[in-house]
Amino acid sequence: MNTNAARFHDARPRWVGKAAHVLLGVLGVLAVVAVVATVTLFIAARNGALDREARKVHCTSNLKFIYMFATSQAVKTGHFPLGAGPAPRAHESLNELVALYGEELPPKLFICPASGASPASQDAGGRFRLSEETLGYAWLATRAELHERKPLACCKQVHGGHTRGINVVWTDGSVHFVPVSALDPKTLLPPGLTR
Ligand SMILES: [Zn+2]
Repeated sequence: MNTNAARFHDARPRWVGKAAHVLLGVLGVLAVVAVVATVTLFIAARNGALDREARKVHCTSNLKFIYMFATSQAVKTGHFPLGAGPAPRAHESLNELVALYGEELPPKLFICPASGASPASQDAGGRFRLSEETLGYAWLATRAELHERKPLACCKQVHGGHTRGINVVWTDGSVHFVPVSALDPKTLLPPGLTR
């Protein structure tokens, strides 16, 4: 060390050393905060993905139950339930099922869990009717025979809870997650289904 540098070193005030300590302390705390924030975001993202997966599984289960009851009826009549008139709405068709099996079908079964919608209210006897608002699924637009293989029902909309697609149950009971790109671009439903 030359003499000038040594003089400067000796002349350095004591607060510089203290400030360096404080700065290091603050940087340490900031590093810990950054790690905690990153871990929290990671856990939130993972929980979000788990929530989405859970809603998809729950929705699949709803569709399989609806399929089971619709098939019970189709075995008797030869075709899946369909409302009256030339273009019955999905809730009109599924009210046929509710009228037959309402005691075994809770209203929440008709709500896609990814939609956040509220199920139909039941009267004192547990009876209910579906409306456009209390049905979260689309249904056959036209008659389908028991032996035909076609889409039977699906989530009514692409909800935030199922990103980039919807669950579709087929007349053979299989459920597939269908991406938006494979849906009818006009209706955003599989062909042959209506809301
Ligand atoms: Zn769904």
